[in-house]
Amino acid sequence: MPRAIQRTTDRLRDGVVVAAYGRRYRVEFPDGGLIECSTRGKKSDVACGDGVSVKLSEADSGVIESILPRTTLLYRSDAHRQKLIAANVTQAVIVVAARPGFYDELINRCLAACAHDNITVLIVLNKIDLPESAAARDALRVYEKLGYRVLGLAAKQDVSPLKPLLASHTSVLVGQSGMGKSTIINSLIPETNLRVAEISEALDSGRHTTTRTALYHLDAASRIIDSPGMQLFGLNHLSIEDTAHAFMEFRPYLGQCRFSNCRHLAEPDCAIAAACTQGNIAESRLASYRKIAEERLRAHARRFA
Ligand code: GDP
Ligand code: ZN
Repeated sequence: MPRAIQRTTDRLRDGVVVAAYGRRYRVEFPDGGLIECSTRGKKSDVACGDGVSVKLSEADSGVIESILPRTTLLYRSDAHRQKLIAANVTQAVIVVAARPGFYDELINRCLAACAHDNITVLIVLNKIDLPESAAARDALRVYEKLGYRVLGLAAKQDVSPLKPLLASHTSVLVGQSGMGKSTIINSLIPETNLRVAEISEALDSGRHTTTRTALYHLDAASRIIDSPGMQLFGLNHLSIEDTAHAFMEFRPYLGQCRFSNCRHLAEPDCAIAAACTQGNIAESRLASYRKIAEERLRAHARRFA
């Protein structure tokens, strides 16, 4: 009897997750081939941008068997669950606009998540054609002072000022809905490339399309990931110490408080509070930090109640 020839469909192939919607994924292989994949069981810890090993079940579908080591993982979490945003990104582009208005809280939380994972941040103030943008620009100075780059953009008119800042990065666009993320993606990505994601939407029948995250190639070295709009950015995965460290301007003062386990909430002789009084830390940043830290304390108290 002839020896059984290993079917090609049994082989594992490595690729990159270029679209994630619910527990369905689209994986791209180095030769440009695309297939639809699922995971085993109810596992949903795969993120757009992940390198994965796929076992082909049929010519055009497969199962993700394992996730290759990640360089970064941007995610948000509350007490109940975590939401993976994107893997292996080098830059997060936070998109804000004067209308409908943005929350500093969300920016601070996103900055902390990125600082924790060493992800570069670019803040885009979109819709600078709107007259109320001047005040928004002023409100963003606090981040500029911290060293974050803020780019004014009118994506509806011209997205080209953004292009050089995306070069050689895998960027992820994050922000509340209505800020202009789709407008930016639509102007950056040629028609043919966008259609790749549309096919996925068709397969995604019945689902709300905003749950979809997709990766697009800008050129051979640059990629961009579009993530669904968010209103909340839970940082349940950061400890209080992690959080203080993730507020980068706190770092020079950490370890200088009277108590070595100071949480910088209301403790006496807190070096962070003193730095704020002296104007070296912005009040809005300390307030954001405290809100996150108090949230963590409450979650901790609930768990051990
Ligand atoms: P998303 O929810 O972040 O994907 O936002 P969209 O791209 O759908 O944009 C939300 C709204 O803002 C739409 O009505 C866009 O036409 C509008 N918009 C996007 N970019 C600009 C801009 O540069 N200027 C102005 N005035 N409106 C914009
Ligand atoms: Zn302190």
